[in-house]
This record gives sequence, C-alpha cells and structure tokens, in this order.
Amino acid sequence: MLKPPREAIGSADPSLIERWGSYRFFVVDGRIRLSAYVDPELLKCVLNDMAVEAGVTLCLHCWGCQALMDGKRIEGIVFESKEGRQAILGQVVIDATGDGDIFRISWLGF
Ligand SMILES: Cc1cc2nc3c(=O)[nH]c(=O)nc-3n(C[C@H](O)[C@H](O)[C@H](O)COP(=O)(O)OP(=O)(O)OC[C@H]3O[C@@H](n4cnc5c(N)ncnc54)[C@H](O)[C@@H]3O)c2cc1C
Repeated sequence: MLKPPREAIGSADPSLIERWGSYRFFVVDGRIRLSAYVDPELLKCVLNDMAVEAGVTLCLHCWGCQALMDGKRIEGIVFESKEGRQAILGQVVIDATGDGDIFRISWLGF
C-alpha cells in the first residue's frame, strides 16, 4: 500500500507536495491528505489469502443461480461453474451479489 507518512498528513510543505502531488488523491487544496493507494490485483490475492486463513472455503468462478427454499426460509443456493451444477446449504445465507440477486431469486424464483 502506497501512502504518505502519518506525520505528513495536513502538511503544505512544497517538497512533500512535489513528492506526493503526482498521485491523484494525496494532495487536496494544497495539503497532503490522509489517503492510500492500493493495487487492486494484489489486494484480491491478499483478501483471498486472508479469507482462507480465516477458514473460508472459496468457490471461485461460480455463479449462484437458484435458491433452495423451505417455505419463506432460504436454506442454501445452487451454483454453476465449469465443474457443473452444485448446491451448498448453510444455517445462514448472506447475499453479497451487490444487487440482491439471491434475495430476488429466493422471492421471485428467477
Ligand atoms: C461507477 C461506480 C463508482 C463507484 N465509486 C465508489 C467510490 O469511489 N467509493 C465507494 O466507496 N464506492 C463506490 N461505488 C460503490 C461501490 O462500488 C459499491 O458500494 C460496492 O462495490 C458494493 O460492494 P458489494 O460487495 O456489496 O458488491 P459488489 O462490489 O457489486 O460485488 C458483488 C460481487 O458478486 C458477484 N455476483 C453477482 N451476482 C452473482 C451471482 N448470482 N453469483 C455469484 N456471484 C455474483 C459480482 O460479480 C461481484 O463480484 C461505486 C460504484 C459504481 C457503480
């Protein structure tokens, strides 16, 4: 992660402005701003590692396509990948699709 040192935050020192000014977010209104610049490709790898270390089983390149319902309660989802169609059950299902796709599928069925 690239960022100005903590002691530089808020400074209007011309040498610091010159050092950090070429990056988009580090200088605002002539002062060094608290901000960080992250390589998104590297961040993906780090986050995957952290999830695995926390005991998460990652299912990459899988697409949730059907909700498994018990009445109004969602019990799991069906997902598709190059390995075919599989299902996973859980005590809790968290919809992290950004647009509530699993939520919609569970209520509307498509
Ligand atoms: C143009 C734009 C600019 C933005 N700029 C900023 C910003 O500067 N700062 C800021 O804080 N926020 C910004 N946002 C908002 C921010 O991107 C979202 O709030 C945030 O990404 C939501 O995170 P999320 O994890 O809930 O969903 P997402 O980031 O949308 O992640 C959902 C993931 O689920 C996957 N997925 C979807 N459906 C399925 C499915 N059926 N099966 C499997 N996977 C599925 C998607 O491929 C995706 O990888 C911006 C948004 C947009 C569109």
